[in-house]
Amino acid sequence: MARLNTPSPVVKTSACPCGSGKALAECCGPYLAGEAHAESAERLMRSRYTAFTLEAYDYLRATWHPEHCPSDLGPDDPPPRWLGLRILASSAGGPDDDQGTVEFVARYKIGGRAHRLHERSRFIRLEGHWVYVDGTFPATRTTN
Ligand SMILES: [Zn+2]
Repeated sequence: MARLNTPSPVVKTSACPCGSGKALAECCGPYLAGEAHAESAERLMRSRYTAFTLEAYDYLRATWHPEHCPSDLGPDDPPPRWLGLRILASSAGGPDDDQGTVEFVARYKIGGRAHRLHERSRFIRLEGHWVYVDGTFPATRTTN
């Protein structure tokens, strides 16, 4: 398996950015380091969020369906500061599936302004490994 470049230094004992409550080294770290493949669509989703927070663009490219990955994927200027990930729902995307969807909310700040990304992401298994295809943006529910 080809090793991917990860930004260094990555503090392996720090809490994983995906919010699992586990250490990075016991959560998304091995995926980003190319030591393991995410075994489910939701695991891949979490690891890609972590990759965004760590600006691990090689990993994002490697886990993006080649026909959908933007060619200009790279650091945003100014870079967003990622605040947290919440998985709302996931369907299929397990060991016996070839596709799956994960709905999530990711919160981030750009230049001091808070944003909220609510996306339903589509994943497929490509040559045995989960990749991100694309996403739709469910209408934000009205909350009282
Ligand atoms: Zn994680």
